[in-house]
Amino acid sequence: MKKLALHWKIIIGMFLGILFGFIMNSVDGGKGFVTDWIAPFGKIFINLLKLIAVPLILASLIKGISDLKDISKIKTMGLRTIIIYVGTTLVAIVIGLTIVNTVQPGTGMSQDTIQKIKMKYENDAGVTDKLMKASAQKDAGPLQALVDIFPSNIFTALGEAKMLQVIFFALFVGICLLLIPEKKAKPLVKFFDSLNEVVMKMVDLIMLFAPYAVFALMANVIIAFDDTEILVKLLWYAGCVVVGLAFMIGFYLLLIKIYTKKSPMWFLSKISPAQLLAFSTSSSAATLPVTMERVEEHIGVDKEVSGFVLPVGATVNMDGTSLYQGIAAVFIMQVIWPEGLTFTNQLVIIATALLASIGSAAVPSAGMVMLVIVLESIGFPAELLPIGLALIFAVDRPLDMCRTVVNVTGDATVSMLVAKSLGKLHEPKPVEWDDDYPKK
Ligand code: ASP
Repeated sequence: MKKLALHWKIIIGMFLGILFGFIMNSVDGGKGFVTDWIAPFGKIFINLLKLIAVPLILASLIKGISDLKDISKIKTMGLRTIIIYVGTTLVAIVIGLTIVNTVQPGTGMSQDTIQKIKMKYENDAGVTDKLMKASAQKDAGPLQALVDIFPSNIFTALGEAKMLQVIFFALFVGICLLLIPEKKAKPLVKFFDSLNEVVMKMVDLIMLFAPYAVFALMANVIIAFDDTEILVKLLWYAGCVVVGLAFMIGFYLLLIKIYTKKSPMWFLSKISPAQLLAFSTSSSAATLPVTMERVEEHIGVDKEVSGFVLPVGATVNMDGTSLYQGIAAVFIMQVIWPEGLTFTNQLVIIATALLASIGSAAVPSAGMVMLVIVLESIGFPAELLPIGLALIFAVDRPLDMCRTVVNVTGDATVSMLVAKSLGKLHEPKPVEWDDDYPKK
């Protein structure tokens, strides 16, 4: 019998998890059971993915760069990556702003609903936590983000999984390997090549656990929803974000079709396990090892491109997040600060949402923290900020799940485009998840 493809197994796990979550929601003590006995398995899975992210970036980038032979190619690749990333993010924000200004989900929301939401979430720990994190972020100087790329201690960078610092270090090592005599470079290159193979195999093995892990993750998400009434009230706003995100996926597929001449359906079928994980974990960083595995082994992007474009993308390219920030900012203004809805302010939103999505960490809910900074940049009254966040808080988690899918799909798309432009997109040599033991 033909084995069920991995993405189907994951989808089944997700649906069963959702179902289980709803059942547990209606059973006495059900929520506690999920928290104590089910959720930890989701956490273990995320821990495992995070565990291998840093060694994977290190090994794949060092090996990839040292294979390049030509240093000028690194500059070309870096420049193209950044330009395409900025370009797709701008498209995302413009799509978001166009939708929210056309549909106007915030106008006409009744005072009664606003009061209800305000009472429920204004002092919610989740909201105050976001405000605190945003103010810590804001206190940093303008060039702090640049300074943060350069580690002073590589072990701290690796230990704290500071992605950009790890990427910088890996690039540095890779370039120096190209500059020293080949004979001297060889042992280290071989070491990282072998490490890369091992970590890739770890991804395979961890993914065998994915269908069960997404069951746990989804059940845990469902038990967190208790007020469906408010969810319904926010349906227009949430709908705008989801439609915008769908447009972005369409945009990526178009780029793939036009530029790489590959079939969009083929791309989706290859990348879907990463998308499903992005949805279940709400974290591009946790999904990164799987995105890299899919893009390298199943789509055919060479290591030196995927090893650079994907980790950089997970950190700085968040099209879904920036689209959401544009829509959320305007929605909040439509509801509680309509006088701020000027054309100039919307232009400022484009610029700050671009920077904010670059600055957002690739973890759940980071986009909402940076939304505070977007709002502050247009002079949004500070006393209204908690109410603004309260307005969108109830639906943030499901939207976070959806925008993370777009963030990950965007990174994968750009890696294909950059690879194609450098002649580094080849026929993939897929390695099955569970049967790739060398046949001796
Ligand atoms: N969760 C998103 C990510 O990891 C970031 C966000 O929009 O909150 O890509």
